[in-house]
Amino acid sequence: MSKKYLVLGASGQDAAIISNLILKQGDAVYGMSRRSASRSFWRLEELGIKDKITMLDGDLTDPSSLDRVIKKVHPDFIISAAAQSHVKVSFDQPSMTAQITGLGILNLLESVRQSEVKDTVRIVQFSSSEMFGGTHNANPDGKLSETTVFDPKSVYACSKVFAHQVCRLYREAYGIFAATMIGFNHTSRFREDTFITRKITKAVARIKYGLQDKLYVGNIKSGRDWTSAEDICRGILKIANHIEPDDFVLGSGVAYTVQEVIEHSFNYVGLDYTKYVEIDPQFFRPAEVHNLLADASKAKQILGWEPKISFKELIEDMIEADLERVRKELK
Ligand code: GDP
Repeated sequence: MSKKYLVLGASGQDAAIISNLILKQGDAVYGMSRRSASRSFWRLEELGIKDKITMLDGDLTDPSSLDRVIKKVHPDFIISAAAQSHVKVSFDQPSMTAQITGLGILNLLESVRQSEVKDTVRIVQFSSSEMFGGTHNANPDGKLSETTVFDPKSVYACSKVFAHQVCRLYREAYGIFAATMIGFNHTSRFREDTFITRKITKAVARIKYGLQDKLYVGNIKSGRDWTSAEDICRGILKIANHIEPDDFVLGSGVAYTVQEVIEHSFNYVGLDYTKYVEIDPQFFRPAEVHNLLADASKAKQILGWEPKISFKELIEDMIEADLERVRKELK
């Protein structure tokens, strides 16, 4: 029998990609979005799945709407991918970020606890590698795992730590299946262009076709474990179906600096990045996470999860998608 997945964060990258995977396996997807939000579903449209998702009005910051949605859908799974997920924005709008990204998850867990699906629903919370705040507490090999100490360096990361810990608490206190996925910087052709990888690939495509002159960036020395969002979403479905709720790090285990992403992207389209890239102080953060590198050996061992898409394939796919979008725009 087909299962019902309630996917939160319907307008974002991860919800779009995981919804596509869920539909492909023959299960039903319900999305939740704010009535007041500008419902930008371009990702669902590009994937051709917008009409296959039942969209309901609701908001993580409005507990009564969560109660209503859970009662109506009676989900087998809740994929908790909704958040104000931009680190820089979290410094500018800290309370809003904490309300959605932190408290919103407590609201979700409370709704579930008081619902009929309390003992049956399986929740997977999108936790974040930003919770580590860098590799200073890393394991001896420089990598970050499920047991590494958190040291959040942004309001976003603080909010994610709160959400992560309440999932663990509700698991322990109430026996709710609230698993977590500690995701490293996953990206794809569906990433918002305020994130650096997509900002770069979009700029490369626009510069290539003469629509843009320069790319302005902040700290290009920071290193991230850029992982394919599709690989991460495949892992989430494994976490959701694992025998018991648990915490899993998902990431490729390889890190590249922002500068390396820039170099690779411009090289791919035959451009010399030094002619186009400028540093702009407005893109630096009040506090920076310098390096993040995943140790996903637990996920490999227990879930048999491994990323399939390499960094190069990932970036090249993103550039191809952006080149195609520019060609359409120019038609
Ligand atoms: P994050 O790791 O979740 O904050 O993902 P981002 O893609 O927003 O940022 C990754 C890294 O790129 C951070 O260390 C940023 O400081 C750095 N970075 C450098 N220039 C930029 C920029 O112009 N935009 C963004 N978003 N990040 C930048």
